[in-house]
Amino acid sequence: MNADTSPRPIGLFDMKAQQSLIRAEIDRRVAAILDSGAFINGPDVRELEEKLAEFAGCAHAVGVSSGTDALQIAMMAENIGRGDAVFLPAFTYTATAEVPLVLGATPVFVDVAEDGFNIDLADLRRRIALVKEEGRLRPRAVVGVDLFGRPADWPAIQEICRAEGMFALDDAAQAFGAALHGRRLGQWGDAAALSFYPTKTLGCYGDGGAILTNDAGRAELYRSLRTHGEGKTRYEVERTGMNGRLDTLQAAILLCKLPLLEQELKDRARVARFYGQHLAGHVTVPGEMPGAESAWGLYSILLPDAEARGRVQAAMQARGVPSAIYYPKPLHRQPAYAKAHAEGLRQAPPLPVSESLCQRILSLPMHPYLDEGQLERVVAAVTAGL
Ligand SMILES: *Cc1c(COP(=O)(O)O)cnc(C)c1O
Repeated sequence: MNADTSPRPIGLFDMKAQQSLIRAEIDRRVAAILDSGAFINGPDVRELEEKLAEFAGCAHAVGVSSGTDALQIAMMAENIGRGDAVFLPAFTYTATAEVPLVLGATPVFVDVAEDGFNIDLADLRRRIALVKEEGRLRPRAVVGVDLFGRPADWPAIQEICRAEGMFALDDAAQAFGAALHGRRLGQWGDAAALSFYPTKTLGCYGDGGAILTNDAGRAELYRSLRTHGEGKTRYEVERTGMNGRLDTLQAAILLCKLPLLEQELKDRARVARFYGQHLAGHVTVPGEMPGAESAWGLYSILLPDAEARGRVQAAMQARGVPSAIYYPKPLHRQPAYAKAHAEGLRQAPPLPVSESLCQRILSLPMHPYLDEGQLERVVAAVTAGL
């Protein structure tokens, strides 16, 4: 007998464990599409949209080609462009800032709160006032990001947007399944953008995304914009749109995965609880958020400084435990955005928390299929580096 006693390898993410649970169903659904040939706008797309809206508790879901395109279509529907200021956190994935720039608008980078990693409301209010004072740009939209799956403060963001007549867009790319005061994301803001990139909380086997909204007029615009701005009939072009549809094959994969999501969210929360219980007191762990349920897209700890983080990463690597830095650089320091940052606000206040987090943050393995033995190994590897 050759019993395999080597420990189960630990992945930062794990898509294989999940696939083994649903492989037969995936094969069946994919084969049905290969037989039907309905690769574009097949029935799986509409079925998925209905189930996404039901899961989120919102009125409409519109499938699109990626999370980035979800953000772009949502902003195109508001005619956001030249002369418009779009407020967004400096500490997020690049796509959040890229979209306003592609549309000719100007991203205004806002600092984040160290506790929770999301947009800092006092700094948001201050920068909106500064944009108005400088008088060159119109404050048009706030993109709140639910970073690592933790919901931003949506009641406050909505109130700020309502008072200023601004569009509130939820970049929920890392957070599908998260909830605030008993209402899932998709019910907050004027619209929410989802990404189905493979490693997100609900991921497909390629690129995909969706826009969620309670607003029927917006949902209709999104459907038009994702299909070249088509009107009531296919060859009537009512507005400038894009090719931003969700593939039928990706919708089919998502229909196989969606029934697992409720349990997977519980397992992600189990992993987060384990890390919290065993790492609190050694490193800074994500704090409790009253009224909020994180989707735990990632689990990120804070070390005192970059050197301490380097030691922990090295200790983890030596023990075969992966880690990652999301994100090593705040967006206002990226070469592509430096010019926009200088133009957005002539007198831009510094962004100290975003800068500090980039030096200190570290993400641990986070997926629903981590067992207790694996979690113990992660914790032992982290503490070995302290
Ligand atoms: C992943 C991600 C996106 C972009 O999603 P894609 O599907 O990769 O285009 C946008 N914003 C945030 C915060 C993300 O994490």
